[in-house]
Amino acid sequence: MVTRKGRLFHRDENCPGYQQGVRISIKRARKLSPVELVTAQQAKERGKGCCSVCW
Ligand SMILES: [Zn+2]
Repeated sequence: MVTRKGRLFHRDENCPGYQQGVRISIKRARKLSPVELVTAQQAKERGKGCCSVCW
């Protein structure tokens, strides 16, 4: 999965790396980007890097 503004892609929303990003966003009162479910291949084509926590 990716988020529109995220630089990384994750296996799923339960990834600790993703969850940390969510908490930071909430702390800074930032809007959460909508989650999109895509394949790793599609994410790479969009220039996303794989998350080192869940991959
Ligand atoms: Zn991750």
